[in-house]
Amino acid sequence: MKQPKVMLSIETLQARVRELGEEITRDYAGADDLMVVPILKGSFLFASDLIRCIDLDLSVEFLGLRSYGAGTESSGVVQITYDLTQPVTGRDVLIVEDIVDTGLSMRYLLENLATRHPRSVKLCSLLHKPARSRVKIPIDYLGFTIEDRFVVGYGLDYAEKYRNLPYIGVLEE
Ligand code: 5GP
Repeated sequence: MKQPKVMLSIETLQARVRELGEEITRDYAGADDLMVVPILKGSFLFASDLIRCIDLDLSVEFLGLRSYGAGTESSGVVQITYDLTQPVTGRDVLIVEDIVDTGLSMRYLLENLATRHPRSVKLCSLLHKPARSRVKIPIDYLGFTIEDRFVVGYGLDYAEKYRNLPYIGVLEE
């Protein structure tokens, strides 16, 4: 298997995740019922590091999304592959996503969650690729803006591989 070129090192990721956790802790101070929703599968490593940097009472509920598309291009046709096991009505929800690319998956999810009447919904995404944005998605907490390259590692895959890479890397052509 090819060794991806480092785009964001372990140290860079760790430092930014700590900052995001501190910011979230400050913003939700006083909230005693935060529901953190990592989006499977890509955000599982990011979310596991992030929640350890959030000094608040919180619960974790996973949600699986699959976006259909040709190759690496999202079509906007999104399926929920695993749903929350707890109601979100009246709860403060923090979605934790790996990357907002076209934005189509997040648009679908935000519209879907709104019908369930949470108290508030915010989005924390590790990465954003603005060059490919098709719909504007408000990202409340953003780790890094990156150029238009297909990235792997730290939970993100290529054909289900590379999720265990401890850094964010680019597969060289
Ligand atoms: P969107 O609907 O915003 O186009 O797509 C979001 C999803 O596509 C992400 O959650 C992620 O699973 C996948 N994705 C988008 N860009 C990349 C990338 O550069 N690398 C990987 N591994 N997945 C990506």
